[in-house]
Amino acid sequence: MKPKVVLKSPREVALMRAAGGVVHRVLRELARLVRPGVTTAELDARADEVIRAAGATALFRGVQNRQARFPFPACICASVNEQVVHGIPGDRPLQAGDIVSVDCGVRLKGYCGDAAETFAVGPLAPEAERLLAVTRQALAIAVAEIRPGRRWSAVARRIQASVQQAGFGVVREFVGHGIGQEMHEPPNVPNYFERGLCEDFELVPGMTLAIEPMVTAGRPEVVLGDDTGWPVVTKDGSLAAHFEHTVAVTADGVAVLTNGE
Ligand code: MG
Ligand code: MG
Repeated sequence: MKPKVVLKSPREVALMRAAGGVVHRVLRELARLVRPGVTTAELDARADEVIRAAGATALFRGVQNRQARFPFPACICASVNEQVVHGIPGDRPLQAGDIVSVDCGVRLKGYCGDAAETFAVGPLAPEAERLLAVTRQALAIAVAEIRPGRRWSAVARRIQASVQQAGFGVVREFVGHGIGQEMHEPPNVPNYFERGLCEDFELVPGMTLAIEPMVTAGRPEVVLGDDTGWPVVTKDGSLAAHFEHTVAVTADGVAVLTNGE
């Protein structure tokens, strides 16, 4: 049996927008702070302050993962260069030319928001610049394609095509997800589609989804980066980028809940 997708009322979508607003504020604040010499632990500390000041709680801290040796210890994931997702904030200073993907999720008044953005640390090499542009664009394409009555597979194929036409890879092992009172709810929301391999679903008003393309500059395969079981890295060591928004399907299209509006 397919897991049941919980549709949200307009009141619940408004609560998710409030949570999404906190996530947006965190990412804007960190965008301002990212520069050579800053550590990802410093970014995490600032995110923690912004989340607490808003009366929200960080969703990632304490998350368990079957492969991991300990629960996730921070309030953001900060994934540098070849790290794709689940990077643990630490004391290594960011260097000019690095890219850092920051993923942030919060719960406010019982409802969740989840978003991610990859930031440039100082000027980037042209390939890294293009990777960020293509991944940001893949998320924009997905949002623009969402409307009620459409199958997710149609949207996923557009994401996949836009990334692969740029010569980059779409990560398959990690996908987007439904979101609401819980950070991870059904359905799975892949950034690619293969009949028989991916479950498809129809987009209907009241559905709330975290859409999150993860894109690699080289091959799309990923592996665990170390023995903690947390950071996920590209198998070939190539750079990876990650952009994410929480959205709601509406009667006539889509509303982005993590863009600060
Ligand atoms: Mg996220
Ligand atoms: Mg997510």
